[in-house]
Amino acid sequence: MSVRWRAPGRVNLIGEHTDYNAGLALPFALAQGCTATAATADGFAARSAQHGHTVEVDSLGELPDGWVRYVLGPAKVLRDRGHDVPPVRVEIDSDVPVGAGLSSSAAVVCSVTGALSDLLGLDLGADDLLAVSRAAENDVVGAPTGGLDQLASLRSRDGHVLLCDFADLSTEPVPFAPADHGLRVLVVDTRVEHGHVDGEYAARRTSCEEAARRLGVASLRDVTDPGTLDRLDDDVLRRRARHVVTENDRVRAVVDLLRRGDLAATGPLLSSSHASLRDDFEVTVPALDLAAETLVEAGAVGARMTGGGFGGCVIALVPDERVAAATSAVEVAFAAAGLGAPVAFTAHPSAGAHRLS
Ligand code: ADP
Ligand code: MG
Repeated sequence: MSVRWRAPGRVNLIGEHTDYNAGLALPFALAQGCTATAATADGFAARSAQHGHTVEVDSLGELPDGWVRYVLGPAKVLRDRGHDVPPVRVEIDSDVPVGAGLSSSAAVVCSVTGALSDLLGLDLGADDLLAVSRAAENDVVGAPTGGLDQLASLRSRDGHVLLCDFADLSTEPVPFAPADHGLRVLVVDTRVEHGHVDGEYAARRTSCEEAARRLGVASLRDVTDPGTLDRLDDDVLRRRARHVVTENDRVRAVVDLLRRGDLAATGPLLSSSHASLRDDFEVTVPALDLAAETLVEAGAVGARMTGGGFGGCVIALVPDERVAAATSAVEVAFAAAGLGAPVAFTAHPSAGAHRLS
């Protein structure tokens, strides 16, 4: 018997670096995703259509470094949680761009976790699907992600953004149909990758924890009055914390506007999120700043980096009739700055992880 699940990549409309601060985020699933096929077999094996070969492993305790850990990681987590996991063969096939901040990794672990849950008759509920796919990335791969990627991939709904509250991991779909308002979400992959992303990410986490500790709160989510931050005498800590506190407010404000059907009015909030990530949180790079600035100059109502930063993608909310001009403006600006060609596509809010019959 073999079973198949599909799980999407994601973009985050707003709410960046808030997940590990018990804060709020507003991602949506992309149409691009990963299909995982799992079947019982004579031995453990992983195959990626993108790599074009199969890796056989003797045991789940000896997974080689690299992509095989994403593919067989969920099986190891399930076994470590006490489930009986017989030898399985897991094949993945994904059209999510890898390493662009669109969560190709979450698409893999979430689709595999779903497929294994079915194959092994575990019937995992929403909380367990999240816990297992997160542990596959956090513990087996060793990537210190805050949970946003897996939550978005598992629970997103077609035609909605997903309001994620990391204080209790609750989610709530909010209708989001930009096309009905003459708008598109344009995703621009800068194709820029930074070499020290994990170290920078860990440093931001540490700063946020230290700021919370000095303010005497369990997490920065508990700071509701930005004036409180004046008590931090360290300028860097104060700016890091200010990003998180103001970003949670921007997520709330965007949700309010979406509920009122005023999508275009969210644009300035997207742009202030970018400014905050650039100036206070310092996770942008020149290519991200250039893309965001150029898109707004070319007619986007707002633009911001999406994902962890230090490279990856910018998203912009763009009126239909400006999409072509905005796309070519970024291409021209990148060429003029001596950067490689960016890749742009329009994103449609799509379904979260599901079984394929
Ligand atoms: P992102 O999630 O932003 O794309 P990550 O660094 O978190 O970037 O995850 C990328 C890693 O996920 C790849 O280096 C690879 O190990 C794994 N991965 C993603 N998609 C595939 C795939 N189709 N085949 C094999 N491995 C994949
Ligand atoms: Mg990832």
